[in-house]
Amino acid sequence: MSIVTPRILVIEDEPSQVEILRFNLQQHGFDLRVEMDGQEGLEAAIEDPPDLILLDWMLPNLSGVEICRQLRRAKATREVPVIMLTARSEERDKVRGLDIGADDYITKPYSIKELIARIHSALRRPTASIVEQKLSVGVIELDLVKHKVSSQGKAIDLGPVEFRLLATLMQSPERVFSREQLLDMVWGISADLETRTVDVHIGRLRNALSKTSGKSQIRTVRGFGYALNAA
Ligand code: CA
Repeated sequence: MSIVTPRILVIEDEPSQVEILRFNLQQHGFDLRVEMDGQEGLEAAIEDPPDLILLDWMLPNLSGVEICRQLRRAKATREVPVIMLTARSEERDKVRGLDIGADDYITKPYSIKELIARIHSALRRPTASIVEQKLSVGVIELDLVKHKVSSQGKAIDLGPVEFRLLATLMQSPERVFSREQLLDMVWGISADLETRTVDVHIGRLRNALSKTSGKSQIRTVRGFGYALNAA
């Protein structure tokens, strides 16, 4: 990711919450903008899209749910990760059930440590607005927008996990990723999975890739993890 200081837009109307977020997020190196009104928050997001939005559920003038819906419809903010802040777990369930397009949900009161981890995880997810839409490494080409992969010009069918795994590896060719890093980046920080899961999906990805090119570019780094050979 090329962003040095990620810019976060906080849309939250509770002054004490705003102060906690301002203090902690700035301390963690984020650039912060705060809007305390729903309508103004939505306008601020569309006028000057941030790298991530923290969005409260209950807001004056426009609800968090409605803001999220509109953010997903607007071209400028369609790809911006949104983390909803909800006061109760019922709200969280409701938001999830409504499928409004939020990337993550966190229930108040939350620990700052957890929030920071969720923010980092959301920022790392490949989105068209912050990374190249097409990646090309060796004979493999991957289109993040069209969700298409090809090797030596031949289309390859991948499951969603294998697709995200390959996209992550392709963004940093030759970089060695540990299994834990891949779990975090591909499955998300809250995923409660064993590192063996990574091996299973790497195996599937290798099989799919080797069908066309005869060999897989994915290298096992013994005792550590995996890397994608640049050629
Ligand atoms: Ca509120």
